[in-house]
Amino acid sequence: MKIIDAKLQVVEVPLPHPFPSTWNPGNPETKLFVTIAEIITDDGIHGYGAACDSSQLLAGIWDTHIRPLVIGKEITQVEAINTGLVNASLYAYRPWCVEVAVWDALGKYANLPIYKMLGGVQDKVLAYASTGSLKSVEERVEDAERYIAEGFKMMKLRAHHDDPFEDVRIIAEIKKRVGDKLKIAVDANQGWFFTGKRSVAKWDLKKALNVCRAFEEIGIEWIEEPLYGYDFEGLAELRKRTTLHVAGGELNAQVHEYRDLIKHNCFDIYQMDVVLSGGFVQNRKVAAMAEAENKIYTPHTWTHGMGMAAALHMAGAVSNCPFIEYCYDPPYWPYEVRDMMLTEPLVVDKDGYIAVPQKPGLGVEINHELMDKYTVLRK
Ligand SMILES: [Mg+2]
Repeated sequence: MKIIDAKLQVVEVPLPHPFPSTWNPGNPETKLFVTIAEIITDDGIHGYGAACDSSQLLAGIWDTHIRPLVIGKEITQVEAINTGLVNASLYAYRPWCVEVAVWDALGKYANLPIYKMLGGVQDKVLAYASTGSLKSVEERVEDAERYIAEGFKMMKLRAHHDDPFEDVRIIAEIKKRVGDKLKIAVDANQGWFFTGKRSVAKWDLKKALNVCRAFEEIGIEWIEEPLYGYDFEGLAELRKRTTLHVAGGELNAQVHEYRDLIKHNCFDIYQMDVVLSGGFVQNRKVAAMAEAENKIYTPHTWTHGMGMAAALHMAGAVSNCPFIEYCYDPPYWPYEVRDMMLTEPLVVDKDGYIAVPQKPGLGVEINHELMDKYTVLRK
């Protein structure tokens, strides 16, 4: 059960279609980044976790901060390892895939899927189709028809035009055409910004409130990240003044920031990410804090299949997670691309549910042949 080695593999796989994501405007993504952490134990277990790191910063602290932290520890010491990773994260990037790899090893040792070790609440979760690009009304209605046929009950659209009332107009038209067959949530992506690219139209409290009022008329499920993710007071004020549910928190970090978000009453729906913000240990704590305030916790999943698998285990482990994000925006982001690092993609059933993997640990297999082919760096 003792960790004897920790390895890192940075992979960059070319995407079949450049992906014009709304959160990185003017800079279509051309590669899928997969940063795989591997934990090896003295009894021959290999645990894996993966993040999406385009910066290779984790590689920069691998020998100085990660290997000394985990080597020699028991795989049961997940809390101690997580605490050590908090410190490591202050030096560079988000190292949470390391903690996920330890949990994967622990699950394989215990012969249990991770969600059963963390709470074991549900073995399937209702998925909603999450889009990541701007498309025409026609294209989006076509997507909606596909989602309905595949069992989805809800899709999430992006509000990202320079004039947000253009988004309101487009989304109103889509809603009119789709009717009650598919609920619609809206992500404004105002929580954080890429720098150095095309400038984005930022929302302030007044603008966010006016846009929310317009969306109240249309009737949407929630508005996501309507203001900067550290504007706790602004978010709290907006939430108080709109009847919409407000969601966010995908890139905040660690329990103290989420404590402050919860204390200020910023959101109805907390979307902490397992591999981007805090690992299983801290997501479990934040989910509990949200539960105590009668709020929803549902993990953000826009990384890739390995991040989605970790999120599924977290969603399966807690009582206040009624649905989960399923990133799915063909032709740019079909699930075959999102999950290309897995031997089998994670798919929804005919009723729109996605099963939590039942094999030990994360319960998914990595396509090592493909990952090795596109590896750019190893540690
Ligand atoms: Mg989001």
